[in-house]
Amino acid sequence: MSERAAAAEPLTTPVLDAHAHLDAMALRSEVAADAAFVAGVMAEARAVGVHAAVTVGDTVASSRWCVAAAGEHPDVYAAVAVHPTEIAGLDDAGYAELERLARDPRVVAVGETGLDYYWDRTDPAEQQEHFRRHIALAKQVGKALMIHDRDAHDDVLRILREEGAPERVVFHAFSGDAAMARECAAAGYVLSFPGVVTFKNAPALREAAAVTPIEHLLVETDAPFLAPHPLRGRPNAPRLLPLTVRGLAAAAGHDVDALCAAVTATARRVFGIVLT
Ligand SMILES: [Zn+2]
Repeated sequence: MSERAAAAEPLTTPVLDAHAHLDAMALRSEVAADAAFVAGVMAEARAVGVHAAVTVGDTVASSRWCVAAAGEHPDVYAAVAVHPTEIAGLDDAGYAELERLARDPRVVAVGETGLDYYWDRTDPAEQQEHFRRHIALAKQVGKALMIHDRDAHDDVLRILREEGAPERVVFHAFSGDAAMARECAAAGYVLSFPGVVTFKNAPALREAAAVTPIEHLLVETDAPFLAPHPLRGRPNAPRLLPLTVRGLAAAAGHDVDALCAAVTATARRVFGIVLT
């Protein structure tokens, strides 16, 4: 059987995928990450009501790829950063390149950046230092900050307080509980929910979704990772986002169309993305 899952039932109100790695999708499928690949991914997404995607860099090279892809495809926007597990060797020249990329008009966020205490690939103190530099960069270029927070909730929130959070903050693949969701919403942060919200073993995440005000919600694939139920473990793609949208709507008690409209309005406010 092919790894490739069928498309999800289409949504009736357009929405966008707030966080995907289109380059990593190509790598996982062992095909070239070229313009034809991206066009195909976005055509399949649009067919189910997913009209745009933010493709997110995790290294300088991948950030460069994301900006190029966003320049070529009107439905694709970019975020640029070096992921906390990839910071080894990131120096001033790397930051200069990130700043140049971040100023591109197709870049809507600095991310993903943050803290990852799950994989011990890089030193936590060093991660914190680089997270602070990414926060400063987001403020400097006036873009949203897109946060990766894995097993590091307290330190992420503390460093945001210490540095002074940028005006627009998105927690990508939000993984906190209801108490943290309340704290984030009170601080004005936006929470982007991944396919995990559909997993049987994630009741705490559904509780978090239920207490998050609708205008603080985004929804994402994190493709090719975090495929929603019943495709858990398979390669994820923007065309599968409707499964997560419906799961989030059910968890939070929202009408699916109302949720899509709210997410689209939030993406406009946070990223400046206008769906076409
Ligand atoms: Zn990601």
